[in-house]
This record gives sequence, structure tokens and C-alpha cells, in this order.
Amino acid sequence: MKIRKIQKNGYDNGVSLAKAWDEEGLMLHFHGEAAEGEYRLVNKEAVEKLGDEETRQGVNFNLLEFWEKWAISQGDKEAQKRIRSWNEKSVLDLVEEVQQEILSEEFDKKKYPEIQGLAAYEDEEARGIADVFGIDYRRVLLCKDMYRRLVQTRISEGSVSPPLESGRCTTVIFKDSPVGPIIGRNMDSGINAMPGLQGYGEPVLYQYPEEMGYSTADIMNSQGLSIQGSSIGYPNEPTYAKFWLDIYPLILRFCKTAEEALDLIERYNPFFGPSNLLVLDARGDAAVIEKTKNTFAVRRTDTNWIFTTDGVAVEEKTRKIQGDDTPAYQFGLQRHQLIEKLLQKEAKAPSIEAMQRIMSNHTMPSPVCKHLDKMPSFYQGGTLYSFIVVPGDKTFYFRVMGPGPIYPCQQEPVKYSYAFD
Ligand SMILES: [Zn+2]
Repeated sequence: MKIRKIQKNGYDNGVSLAKAWDEEGLMLHFHGEAAEGEYRLVNKEAVEKLGDEETRQGVNFNLLEFWEKWAISQGDKEAQKRIRSWNEKSVLDLVEEVQQEILSEEFDKKKYPEIQGLAAYEDEEARGIADVFGIDYRRVLLCKDMYRRLVQTRISEGSVSPPLESGRCTTVIFKDSPVGPIIGRNMDSGINAMPGLQGYGEPVLYQYPEEMGYSTADIMNSQGLSIQGSSIGYPNEPTYAKFWLDIYPLILRFCKTAEEALDLIERYNPFFGPSNLLVLDARGDAAVIEKTKNTFAVRRTDTNWIFTTDGVAVEEKTRKIQGDDTPAYQFGLQRHQLIEKLLQKEAKAPSIEAMQRIMSNHTMPSPVCKHLDKMPSFYQGGTLYSFIVVPGDKTFYFRVMGPGPIYPCQQEPVKYSYAFD
């Protein structure tokens, strides 16, 4: 397990993070999927060997080209026109502008104690990272999902929802089994993210000074709380979150139980964007939160299982906002129904093997394990990595796509241990 001792001072923390990444052969990247904390990182060697031209450009890659391709794939002429009217310098200036707005925002101390000073800390952290790598600190910010989305939304004037770039994902949970709760998770993305994932998997432990919250390791914290999810868009819902806070680390740093996580999510609802979240605590209490731009619905289950899969909201309130007549929605819904059926059978004897069978199920037309060549044209993604976590045992089984491609379902899992103490 890699250990990062988080510093009280943002700049110092940035310096120490960047030095650790450099020593481990990692670099920042716009194009990667494998993020540590909120930063997108890739393995240098793998990118050299396996990456295409775009991937090899690293942080010098021109995001406008990437966004233009996205706008073309969406058939959004207005967005294309607007994206073409920008140049790289103006994008970086916009990052600065967005950052100044974030830094000048004040949050009620009573309602939002967890984020007092957070923006300033993260700003300093980005400057520390930039100094170690000798790059413009605005490019460092752009390696975080939040900035990419804020900037891109402004460039395309929010004419359509930003693309779902990061993990699309399916997360399935047995709340209880002979080994305690079991988490299964598939991460789906485009194949261009594959090189960035090589060398990824070993959990990274963030040890925070006490006043900064609990220690966290990827999806879990030292209190046994985990947060997972899947991505979803609400293109027809008009309002955008003002401040796209990354809610995952906040929940892990400050919550111990699923109830506490629900309270935090409710308080911070206006500050983060659409996603399906799944929280699970050490006692096996779990909930799915279907978050739209403006509101959310909570799902709890009486069964021994709970799950969420990408692209689909199933609660009445959120389903209505999402709109359920598109091929993309139906594609997600079919998978949702498939998983429900698989769980009815497998949850009778919940085990790591049973979870494995669910996560590598290939029932068409909308399988849990997605192979790129079997996907419909509107879904340009496949399952790039798959893992199982047994929180009670502190074990983590990880499988990642290799060149070929050889999918996670065709690989032997690598076993890691979480060690919070
Ligand atoms: Zn497969």
C-alpha cells in the first residue's frame, strides 16, 4: 500500500505529492482515467509503450480538440462553433477566472464546516505540484475533473451536458456474507484510457492530520465507510451546480456511517453534479443516492443487496427528470434489470465468487462486463477495470484490462491489503 502523509499546508502537500508521483513513474495527464484523489495520473512507461499520439502529449495535449470531437459526436453544432472560437491561451485564462470565482466564494461556517479554506488549500496544492513538474499551474487544475467540467461547460455555454468522461461504472453490494459486506465494481471507459491504467491498482493511503478528517484509501476510509457509484447525465434538467465539488473525498474524510454520508450529501446538494452514489458502512448499512443537477432521490433496500449501474435512474422522481425514452436510457435500464435478476439468484449464497460471476456477466444486449466490440454505437466504452473489496477483511482484488485487449474478466485478480493503522 502506498502511503501519502498529507501536509497541513497546501503548497507543501502539492510538493510532496508530486515528488512521490515522480518517484513512482507517474505523471499528470488530461487524458487518463486512473486518478489519485482528484488528479488524473498515468504511468509514464505504459503511456510511452501503449499510448496513441494524443495520450503521449500528456498535459500539453490540447483539450479543445478533445472537446470539439465530443461536440461533433453529440451532433451539437452550436457547441462546435463556440469551441472553435477559443484558443489554448483563452482556455487557460478561463481556468484562472473560474479559479478566482471559486476562491472568492464564501460558505456558511455552520452549514459547511468541512470546506472552510478548502479552495485555498487546493489552489496552493496545485501550485506546489506545478512547481515540481515545471508546468503552468492552470494545467494542473485542468487535470482535475471539476475544472474540466466547469471550463468546458462555459466554453460550450452549457448548451448540452458535458460528456461523461470518467468512470461509467457498475457497483454491486452484498450488505452481508460470511466475510461481511462485499463490494463489486466495474469501471467503464474508452479504450484510450487503457495505457493510463497499467501500473494502477495498489491502494493509496492518505493519512490526514487529525483536524483534516479520517484517513482514506481509494474508495474507503479508516472507519469502514465506502463510497462508490456510477455516472449518469441529466441533459434536460436546466440548472447546473454552481460549484462542482468533488463529494467523494469529502464523504470519506468526514463521515463514519451511511446516515452521516446522507446528511452530508443533503447539505452539499447544490454544490455537486449528477451521479449515482452508493454508500456502505462497516455495519452493512447502505444507500443509493440518485443525484441530478438540482435534487436527488435515496434508495434503501430490504434485501441483502443494493446496486447502481451507469446511465439509469430508477426512482420515480429522478427517472422523470432523466427522461426514459432514449436508447441510452433503455440500454442502462436493461442492465439494471439484468443485475436485479442475477442478484435474486446469487444473493442466496453471497460470496466473493458469486460477486465475481455478477461482475463478469456478459448477457446481451446490455452486459455487466462490457466488451468494446459488443457495445452499441452510442456507448463508446468498455470495462477497463474490475475490483472486489471485502471491507471486513481489508482486502482488495483488482483486475485491469491489458493490451490486446484482454478484459478484466479474462485476468487473474491481484490481491492487495488495506492497512489503515
Ligand atoms: Zn468480460
